[in-house]
Amino acid sequence: MVIAIFLGYLSIWYLFLLCFVFLLLTAYGSGIIQAQYFMPVTCGGETKEKNIAITFDDGPHPEITNQVLDILKEYDVKATFFCIGKKVESHPEVVREIDAQGHLVANHTYSHLRKNCWVIQEEKIKKELSQADEAIFKVLNKKPNWFRPPFGVTNPHIAKANKDLGHHVIGWNIRSLDGRLKDEQKIIKRVKKRMKPGGIILFHDIYPRILPILRNILEYARENNYNIVPLNELIKSNPYE
Ligand SMILES: [Zn+2]
Repeated sequence: MVIAIFLGYLSIWYLFLLCFVFLLLTAYGSGIIQAQYFMPVTCGGETKEKNIAITFDDGPHPEITNQVLDILKEYDVKATFFCIGKKVESHPEVVREIDAQGHLVANHTYSHLRKNCWVIQEEKIKKELSQADEAIFKVLNKKPNWFRPPFGVTNPHIAKANKDLGHHVIGWNIRSLDGRLKDEQKIIKRVKKRMKPGGIILFHDIYPRILPILRNILEYARENNYNIVPLNELIKSNPYE
């Protein structure tokens, strides 16, 4: 086709259009984790039963995570924490407590990368992943099998880096937007509206507003006969190697 354009058979606009469609597809594939454009990602459980899993990203936080644990204990619910390696090193006692209470710990890179991680090379991402694995291993003596890309962004560099390390990549299908939205009621409404069998909810255990939100959602799940199950049960995958 490029030759055809040079020979004057086709308008240059076709080339522009092709480039535009390619860029659009790439942006979509990179930003929407459910698209699985660059790599396989588990974004929900395959079940018709009202089973859902709760996940928390970006912790551990020295105060909030413990309060989240208290609420989970009150409702007898097990969750998964996608931890940032650097924070695991700063607050190992919180990670030990997560594990001691029967919750799962997974990899969310060492420093959370940057949103625009297109420019970050494969080797650097590989290092981010293995450093987070090591930080968790030092505290729990277990190597995480699950990895969630920061911001849910995937690209060929992340795909290649992870291919060698072999983590099971985990996304979500219920995004609470608890980081972006400031209004608790809006967040609660959003999660309730999206609740469905096989749901994986994405929360963050770093904002104080998560506490009333979590309590509200756990109440709602109870009232509407949703079972909150551990993620390994929902997606049939081992959390540790
Ligand atoms: Zn994150």
